[in-house]
Amino acid sequence: MNTFAPHSLLNPHLSGLEEYTPIQPFEVLSKRLGIPASQIVKLDANENPYGPLPAVAEALAEYPYYHIYPDPQQSDLREALSGFVGVPAEHILPGQGADELLDYICRLFLSPGDAILNAPPTFGMYSFDAKLEGAQVIDVWRRADYSVDVEEIERRTANGEQQLATSDWGLGDDLRSLIANRQSPIAKLLFLTSPNNPSGTWLPDDDLRRLLALPLLVVLDEAYVEFANQPSRAGWVLAHDNLIVLRTFSKAAGIAGLRLGYGIVPAWLMPHLWKFKQPYNVNVAASVAGLASLHHTDQIMAVVGKLKTERDRLFAALSAISYLRPYPSEANFVLCRVEGQDAAALKQSLERQGILVRYYNKPGLDNCIRISVGRPEQTDRLLEALRRM
Ligand SMILES: *Cc1c(COP(=O)(O)O)cnc(C)c1O
Repeated sequence: MNTFAPHSLLNPHLSGLEEYTPIQPFEVLSKRLGIPASQIVKLDANENPYGPLPAVAEALAEYPYYHIYPDPQQSDLREALSGFVGVPAEHILPGQGADELLDYICRLFLSPGDAILNAPPTFGMYSFDAKLEGAQVIDVWRRADYSVDVEEIERRTANGEQQLATSDWGLGDDLRSLIANRQSPIAKLLFLTSPNNPSGTWLPDDDLRRLLALPLLVVLDEAYVEFANQPSRAGWVLAHDNLIVLRTFSKAAGIAGLRLGYGIVPAWLMPHLWKFKQPYNVNVAASVAGLASLHHTDQIMAVVGKLKTERDRLFAALSAISYLRPYPSEANFVLCRVEGQDAAALKQSLERQGILVRYYNKPGLDNCIRISVGRPEQTDRLLEALRRM
């Protein structure tokens, strides 16, 4: 009998990771509730209730080359994205969802002992990916209105060893020498989300400008930017060597299940990502669907317009419900604090009626639910149920 214990070979920083809580698949839930999937009002994951454009289904059905490996350069897709985003294709890198790019960024920059700055409550993948690399997560909590506490991030960055003057900030080499000479861990990456998930908060230009002056690489996640009443900051990447902007086809374009996102990346970082990325990370179906979507961006923006109108109607109706306090949102969801009632019981009661919303009970989000914007008839069913409680 071999007495060697193979589990001792595990990366020490990985063996202590917390287990990930998976959500119940849609079909399993439908079976458990005894409600057909088609009748479930799914407002818990910010998906687009209209799904992909008809042109996407057609393009997928007609595409003849599924037996051929994808183009590792993703040339056609990057060219089309360049037209949509208004940034040269040399700055654009598609991935298997924005999630894959988040993972790449963490793996390129973080080692055990490094740190990231995070602005919770926010999307969970930043701290998840950072911890996978053994990095520490420095939380700078958002204020009560969910705005980013810029002063506190500045203070945290100026303290400790991170004393690089703003004017010294330049290309990657400056940061590399800073890191080589440091005495203890410094935060390398700052993750920001605008509009923020789950609060729907916009990060104002002035705040972003101040944060970009810090000796940090800023990762701005714009997964919901199409729903905002303000423009994307993707173009800022051309003027800021320490900014990466992430976008996705999952929300506005309605193809979350196909997994397609993209990064807008400064020139110095692109060669590193090219060396680093899996050659066939974007599969052919995702690429075909992405291209077909980009050929009809007017139709996508029409769907986005419908969802924005519905968001405003949803927000007004939620505001009129006595036990809910909705927060204004620039995204395709509305966060609500539940007052004088138990949000968990509320979520469960809705679930029994086949209406799914996201429930939170953690710091900054105690007794909260997040409702994705659905079709008008879905909003009606939700509101009817809420008014009965
Ligand atoms: C949904 C979401 C993503 C995930 O995007 P994918 O392209 O589907 O991986 C990224 N960031 C935020 C904030 C999200 O809510």
